[in-house]
Amino acid sequence: TPMLTIDNLHASTSGKDILKGLSLTVNPGEVHAIMGPNGAGKSTLGHVLAGREGYECTQGSVTFDGKNLLELETEERAAAGIFLGFQYPVEIPGVSNMYFLKAALNAQRKHRGESEIEATDFLAFVRQQAKKVGLETSMLQRGVNEGFSGGEKKRNEILQMLVLQPKLMVLDETDSGLDIDALKLAADGINAMRSPERSVILVTHYQRLLDYVKPDFVHVLAKGRIVKSGGPEFALELEERGYGWLEAA
Ligand code: ADP
Ligand code: MG
Ligand code: MG
Repeated sequence: TPMLTIDNLHASTSGKDILKGLSLTVNPGEVHAIMGPNGAGKSTLGHVLAGREGYECTQGSVTFDGKNLLELETEERAAAGIFLGFQYPVEIPGVSNMYFLKAALNAQRKHRGESEIEATDFLAFVRQQAKKVGLETSMLQRGVNEGFSGGEKKRNEILQMLVLQPKLMVLDETDSGLDIDALKLAADGINAMRSPERSVILVTHYQRLLDYVKPDFVHVLAKGRIVKSGGPEFALELEERGYGWLEAA
């Protein structure tokens, strides 16, 4: 059964219709790349899936793990296993990285009916994961993303994924200012998370990222809908032909 089914989704923000009949099905283990022209609604799709405030779904449905996703609060969605990654992640000054990760992990455990993790177990676990992504232990005491460099934010995002082990990762790398090292870091992080149970929706402007993260499907989102889909080779065709021929259709 699909992990995520988006059916004829219409969504608006500030009274503006942005998603206009978007449908997409994601099965466990699949990586779906979403490309498309600026202003098509790619980031909006991410915000809507995350349940971000200010977005209204006016038509259609989103089913995640058999549940009506649109009825869940933002925190419930995260606890249910949806992870949202953005190129410019929020800074949360005053809330330590460590505290944030622990709260998020415990919310997830609570959602699954499990008890809170032991403080010492968590400390050992998070240190181990931080080491894996090359983040110094001192970064765990800092405010979430507070004053982090681009590369550190990217490592921190991967750390969050490693700790939370989400079922569905929605990653928006659009308009990416990532340099080649950060790009490879992002790709390594995503690839390390790939598994038959876990799915990825990867929003990207650049074919280049897909050289490192090979998608199962590539979709073009234009004017608020998925207008064409293909396999990994479709990204190369898009690189060559652009999006104009699809928007006109
Ligand atoms: P993409 O990520 O594909 O470039 P976005 O989802 O960011 O596209 O934006 C889609 C459209 O919605 C754009 O025309 C954008 O200007 C508009 N939009 C996005 N957020 C808002 C907002 N808060 N208020 C009004 N319009 C918005
Ligand atoms: Mg944009
Ligand atoms: Mg965008």
